Amino acid sequence: MSESTSTLVKPIQLPSDQDSSGRTLGEEEIKLLSEAIHSGTLTSTKGSFVKALENQFAEMIGVKYAYACSSGSGAIHTAIAAIDPEPGDEIITTSITDMGALTPILYQGAIPVFADVDPKTWNVTAESIKACLSDRTKAIIVTHLFGNPCNMTEIVELATSRGIPIIEDCAQSFLASHNGVKVGALGSIGCFSLQQGKHITTGEGGIVTTNDEAFARRMFLFINKAWGYGDPQPDHYFLALNGRMCELQGAVAVAQLGKLEEIVNSRQVAADKLTAKLQGLDGISPPLIDPRNTHVYWKYCLSVDSQKIVDGAVGLAKNLKAKGIFSAPRYIQKPAFMCEIFQKQRTFGNSRFPFTLARPEAVDYDAARFPNTYAGLEAVLVLPWNERYTDEHIDFIAAAIHEAVDQLKVN
Ligand SMILES: *Cc1c(COP(=O)(O)O)cnc(C)c1O
Repeated sequence: MSESTSTLVKPIQLPSDQDSSGRTLGEEEIKLLSEAIHSGTLTSTKGSFVKALENQFAEMIGVKYAYACSSGSGAIHTAIAAIDPEPGDEIITTSITDMGALTPILYQGAIPVFADVDPKTWNVTAESIKACLSDRTKAIIVTHLFGNPCNMTEIVELATSRGIPIIEDCAQSFLASHNGVKVGALGSIGCFSLQQGKHITTGEGGIVTTNDEAFARRMFLFINKAWGYGDPQPDHYFLALNGRMCELQGAVAVAQLGKLEEIVNSRQVAADKLTAKLQGLDGISPPLIDPRNTHVYWKYCLSVDSQKIVDGAVGLAKNLKAKGIFSAPRYIQKPAFMCEIFQKQRTFGNSRFPFTLARPEAVDYDAARFPNTYAGLEAVLVLPWNERYTDEHIDFIAAAIHEAVDQLKVN
C-alpha cells in the first residue's frame, strides 16, 4: 500500500470560495444589483448603494467613518496616504502578508520595515514591532492573519507610548475581535478587502475605517482624486487617483454585508468542530487563540511538527492531496521581503526610489533576523475554509488528517 492510499476516507468535493459552491451569493445580490442598474446611476458619487454600504459597515465595526474603495490594496494605499509619510519614512509591517499590503507603502515613498512574527500564530507582536522602531517610524501596519487578531492591547500600548498610528489590515479578519472590540476599530485605521476569496466579496473591492476625523477626510479625498466634493471652492488638493468602488459593487456589497454575521458564525462553528476532532493528535497543533481574541477563520491553519510528521507540513499536504484535500503548506512560500520587488528594488525606472533613502538596517533582509518567520512558514499548513462546510465535510477532513498523521508518523 502506498503511504497516501486511503482505505478509510472516501473523497468528497469540498465547497470552494472560487465559485458558487462556496460563495454565499444569490437572489439578495441580484435584487439590489438590478435596482442599481435600473436606477441608471452607476457611480458612487451620485448613487446610494456605496453610501449605504459605508454607513452600515461603520456601524457594524463600531467606528465613525467607513469609505469603500476599489480593492484591499487600495484600502491600504488609502490608509498610508492619509498618514502622509515623508519620502524615506519607515512603516513597520509583517514579513507574512499579501503583497497588496506592501507595495502601497513604496508607492507613497515610504520604506517597509519587516517585523518578525510569532511562529505559533504567524502574527506580529509588540515585541517584534518594538525591535523595528526607529526615529523614522511613521506608522505600524498589523495584519490579523488568517482571521486571528494580533494581541492588540500590547501593540496599541507600544504605539500610543510613541505616538505612532496603527493601520490594521483586516482583509482576512471581518468581525474578528480583541477584548470585545472589532478589528478595524482597535487601531487608527482599518483596511478590508472584498476580493473573491475573502469572507464576503464583490469580486474586487475594499473598505477603510477610522474614528479619526482628519484621517477620514484625507481618506475620502484620496479615493476621489483629492477633489473636494461639497467644498465651497473645491480643487484637487494633492496627489491621488480614482480609487472609488462603483454602485454595481456597492449593491452586491450591501447584500453581502447582510450575510456577514452568519458567514462568520458558520465558519467558527465548523472550525470548532474540526479543532475538537484534532485534539491530542501528535505532531499537529490546531489554531492557537489568545483568550482575549475571537478568530473568524478565513483559513484554518495547522502547525505541523516535522520532528513527528515525515516531511512536516509539505509531507502532510502531499498526503492530504492524494486523499482529495488541497491545502497550502508554507502559505506564501517565502517571506514577503524575498520577492523580487524587495530583492532587486524594482520601482520607478532605474531609480530604486524610495529604497535609495532607506537606512541600511531597514532593508537588511538577512534570514538570521527573521528566525520565527522562517520557522512559522516551515510549520504552517493552510486549509481552505468555508461557511458551507457541513458535518460531513468536517468528518471527511478530520478523518483524512488522522489517517495522514498515522501514515506519516516518525517512528
Ligand atoms: C487580500 C489581502 C490584501 C489585498 O486585498 P486585494 O483586495 O486583493 O487588493 C491585503 N492584505 C491581506 C492580508 C490580504 O489577505
